Amino acid sequence: MDDTQVRERLDELRREATGRLAALEEQLDDIAVARRDANSDDEHDPEGSTLAFDRAQAAVLAADARRQLDEVDAASARLDDGTYGRCERCGRPIPDARLTARPTARLCVDCQAAVERR
Ligand SMILES: [Zn+2]
Repeated sequence: MDDTQVRERLDELRREATGRLAALEEQLDDIAVARRDANSDDEHDPEGSTLAFDRAQAAVLAADARRQLDEVDAASARLDDGTYGRCERCGRPIPDARLTARPTARLCVDCQAAVERR
């Protein structure tokens, strides 16, 4: 992939994550309103505990979307300073196939595996 293609892919990912995050934040707002309306404590009210569960799930997904946005920003910064596509651990080039599948990859497959084993 050349830089232009990478930027397009990153823009796509950014749009996707931004949209996802906006939807989740709306959902979290709705849940907050519903919980206020229910006006009861989560532990003893079945509906309250469902809302608490929904809220926890939406919060996890929202954190995930934020993380993706951070990754996209970091990848854009690496493109700008010319370090994009190089493994941050061993310095070798990350294969194109991996970057195509995961444009925000910071590590080559070997290093990723080594880091995940730790
Ligand atoms: Zn590496």
